[in-house]
Amino acid sequence: MFEDKEPELTPISKLGEFGLIKHLTQFFPILNDSTELGVGDDAAVINPNGKKVVLTTDVLAEGVHFNLGYVPLKHLGYKAVVVNLSDIAAMNAKPTQILVSLAVSNRFPVEALEELYSGIQTACNHYKVDLIGGDTTSSNAGLIMSITAVGIEDEENLVKRSGAQPNDLLVVTGDLGGAYMGLQILEREHAVFLADPDMQPEMEGFDYILERQLKPEARTDVKATLEQLNIKPTSMIDISDGLASEILHLSDQSKVGFRLYEEKVPMDNLTITTADEFNLNPVMTALSGGEDYELLFTISPNDFEKMKNHPDFTIIGHAVEKEEGNFMVARGSNQLVALTAQGWDAFLGNQQND
Ligand code: ADP
Ligand code: MG
Repeated sequence: MFEDKEPELTPISKLGEFGLIKHLTQFFPILNDSTELGVGDDAAVINPNGKKVVLTTDVLAEGVHFNLGYVPLKHLGYKAVVVNLSDIAAMNAKPTQILVSLAVSNRFPVEALEELYSGIQTACNHYKVDLIGGDTTSSNAGLIMSITAVGIEDEENLVKRSGAQPNDLLVVTGDLGGAYMGLQILEREHAVFLADPDMQPEMEGFDYILERQLKPEARTDVKATLEQLNIKPTSMIDISDGLASEILHLSDQSKVGFRLYEEKVPMDNLTITTADEFNLNPVMTALSGGEDYELLFTISPNDFEKMKNHPDFTIIGHAVEKEEGNFMVARGSNQLVALTAQGWDAFLGNQQND
């Protein structure tokens, strides 16, 4: 996918490992006071100034987590940062630094890594985080990238997965299922392209869900909105694997059950019509699709009035005693559908029984 862009490509060997690191990291200014020493020494130095340090890391492997046949490297770099910042946001912490490690095969020229780093840089600027280090090595097969994110936050602001109580309200940001349907469109059009490279992909009209898949955002903004509302969630998680799976995590760590109301699950119209086109039950794309990177949290029922009409948030259910289990209340009936982590097959089975 790079061949037709640049007339002359630079093999990594021309710069060497150290030259490459310098080249890729030269345009990353330090934005945070907590960053005392960034790229270039044996290790970075950060100063949390009496606050807590929150750490998370994610590995992305070519062919497992991304397909460079249809994911541009710039988007991959951006998204790789976002998925980590989403985990920091899910702790209600402010993301401040990242480290980026790469294992890269020699099929990638320097220009490809420049694309990747321009996406990483766009994310660093947008979210005001500093690139403070990483590691670079060669790989025999494809590209593997690991990003570690650092967040710094006052202890009293941190929110864990544990902490939800029975009767707490279950709240979600944004809308769900879009990233999964965007992936279905990309995979369909990629298959068409592989079968006949002269065919033009039909991506028109799918912008919103394609963007949800290719350029997701981390909800680092939610922390400030909750502060304005004077609400501190009792538990929180980000939605990387699908709503059902994340509800089960909150359930597990908080030792409560949940009731989720199908009719409340926020979904964009395009997600619904595209799911219909693929003969998928739309709510299943929210429950089991994943990669939406919205935040799922619980609040005290006392905060209901403060939260109820806010456009950024949807109340989708509530916590119950652990013994009552985790169920979705089906639309238009009071039928309870068990929430399961690997939704698809189980849910499709359930549907046929309806
Ligand atoms: P060492 O041999 O001690 O591990 P490196 O030569 O790997 O040192 O790294 C030198 C500096 O460059 C360090 O600050 C390291 O964190 C940084 N670095 C290495 N690879 C990357 C990368 N892919 N992205 C950002 N910084 C990197
Ligand atoms: Mg190293």
